[in-house]
Amino acid sequence: MKIRELIKTFQPYKVLEGDYKIWLDKNENPFDLPPEIKEEIFEELRKTPFNRYPHITSMPLREAIAEFYGVSPKNVAVGNGGDELLSYLIKLFDGDYIVTTPPTFAMYYFYAKLNGIPVVEVPLNERFIMNGDEIAEKSQKASIVFITSPNNPTGNTQPREEILKVLDTGAPVVIDEAYAEFSEKSYIDLLDEYENLIILRTFSKAFSLAGVRAGYLLASEEIVDALYRIKSPFSLNVLTMITAKVMLNHYDLVMERVNYIIKERERIYQEFKEYAYPSEANFLLMKLDAYEFLLERGIVVRKLDGRLQGHIRVTIGKKEENDELIKVLKEFVENVADI
Ligand SMILES: *Cc1c(COP(=O)(O)O)cnc(C)c1O
Repeated sequence: MKIRELIKTFQPYKVLEGDYKIWLDKNENPFDLPPEIKEEIFEELRKTPFNRYPHITSMPLREAIAEFYGVSPKNVAVGNGGDELLSYLIKLFDGDYIVTTPPTFAMYYFYAKLNGIPVVEVPLNERFIMNGDEIAEKSQKASIVFITSPNNPTGNTQPREEILKVLDTGAPVVIDEAYAEFSEKSYIDLLDEYENLIILRTFSKAFSLAGVRAGYLLASEEIVDALYRIKSPFSLNVLTMITAKVMLNHYDLVMERVNYIIKERERIYQEFKEYAYPSEANFLLMKLDAYEFLLERGIVVRKLDGRLQGHIRVTIGKKEENDELIKVLKEFVENVADI
């Protein structure tokens, strides 16, 4: 038996187990669903036969999402998390490589590597803004281009004029909007104009459903149709489909919580302005080498490496969690940080 070399050298997630009291490392929503909404979901589940396979192309959820955005279900694909959709997008189009804009989301690399597809990187500049001209140049031979806006882990959105430069090449472009609900900016409107645009969204962040695993994309009929030709037929189970559908009917609550998180984000940002980057997501990137210091005090955040070595990414939590974070980080800045 010989395990493939790439599997030995690459692992997307490190498992951290331990008795930590505050988890601010995975950009999860700090709020679970309220009991009434869970009851509503259970009520729907009671009516659902579990012995039958789910709809083969997840039509019930695609229809609900289509209605939400005022598009056709033929322009919507859903996956077992946004991650599953990324795994298909990576291999859907012809081309020599994919294009990414580091520092960015690790899963583009994971699926490219797993499929033996080379990655061409066009780094973000010092303010984490993309270089539209250079990406456009590289996109000629690319199968697909990944742009993340708001970007993970930097938190900023990308400017429209840079995005248009890439879209105008005609190459398939994913704008990963996993955090768009926390931002004022979305590029969904560009779908009317660009057949090569794919908008990726998820229920994991704003909708509080990270544990349920549901993501979706909006794109041209041609792209959605192609994707369903290669997609695992039953990967989206009925439990997920029902739960996501119910949550779409509670968008008021979702946005109420989003506004709470944005307020908290700005409160933490104001406290650490010197070290934090402005964010339009549910996390803050900070130039503070405080990972171990926080961990020893029971707070888990994301430690970054490479170009962002010495930085942490902190998910915005509940007010009490953020209070504790602010307290401990202030201690770090005052006593430990060598600035
Ligand atoms: C969280 C995230 C996703 C999707 O996550 P899923 O939980 O798989 O839906 C996609 N892109 C980025 C940049 C993310 O941070």
